[in-house]
Amino acid sequence: MDTILYYADNYVFDKLYAKIWPSCTKVVADTVISAWPRDDIWRINLSIYMITCFFGWTLYLTAATLSYFFVFDHDYMKHPKFLKGQVRMEIQCALGAIPWMTLFTLPLFVGEIKGKSMLYDGVPQTTYDWLYLILSVPSFLFFTDCGIYWFHRWMHHPKVYKYLHKLHHKWVIPTPYASHAFNPVDGFLQSLPYHLYAYMIPIHKYLYMGMFVFVNFWTVMIHDGAFISHSTVISTSAHHFVHHLYFNYNYGQYFTFWDKLGSSHRQPTEEQYDKSLRDDVKVMARQAHDAEEIENETLGIKPKSN
Ligand SMILES: [Zn+2]
Ligand SMILES: [Zn+2]
Repeated sequence: MDTILYYADNYVFDKLYAKIWPSCTKVVADTVISAWPRDDIWRINLSIYMITCFFGWTLYLTAATLSYFFVFDHDYMKHPKFLKGQVRMEIQCALGAIPWMTLFTLPLFVGEIKGKSMLYDGVPQTTYDWLYLILSVPSFLFFTDCGIYWFHRWMHHPKVYKYLHKLHHKWVIPTPYASHAFNPVDGFLQSLPYHLYAYMIPIHKYLYMGMFVFVNFWTVMIHDGAFISHSTVISTSAHHFVHHLYFNYNYGQYFTFWDKLGSSHRQPTEEQYDKSLRDDVKVMARQAHDAEEIENETLGIKPKSN
């Protein structure tokens, strides 16, 4: 984040702040300098907020739009649980949530700038340095997968669910635009393991940045409705589709490991993998019925009597 802030200051913020709040005395080479110094904590906070929000929106809109037009199976929009105007609602929800998620995460980002985290930089020198760098990838994925699993599972507790996580399950048949369509507190809690990692375990700052971008793409990918992989080890988009549909299974983000350990794993079936079954109206109707039943049962809602 410090590298991004350095370039953002050089190319955008120095000029922007000089225009808004120019210094009366400082002029260097005919250029007016801002009265707001780069190392002022409030300037750092505001700059990081704008950078994160801008990149959050850009990354979300780019990845979700590409996925929606080139990967997402549009036949799923015929499903009885697909809402009228859902894509617009998902986009509105995500665009509105990102500024709040950014605000909650701001102290953690600023802490990184101020050297409070365990991020390190520099070119690896020894074989051990390179090995550590490479092993940081599985270590990061394993740690964050564990954190997300337990936060996510906790948010499915009936006492918590309706306040924090219900909004994300409004999209029973999600599109890639649902990937960031959360209650902001929910979104923040699910991203917290990434930040905790940077504060607990040393990781190279460029690798961390790369992982952060990857995580955002992955989040879009597990909502893309294209069930190519039949893996039983990786938590694929089919697994996450089962999560949206059947509610209390497959809480994991990358692997099925924690779900298998926590007895919440449910392997997708031919209803997800076989296109003809997927588009079958009877299959869709039964899925819709089962989805409602499972959610109501978990939340203790009595079925409506006819
Ligand atoms: Zn959930
Ligand atoms: Zn989801």
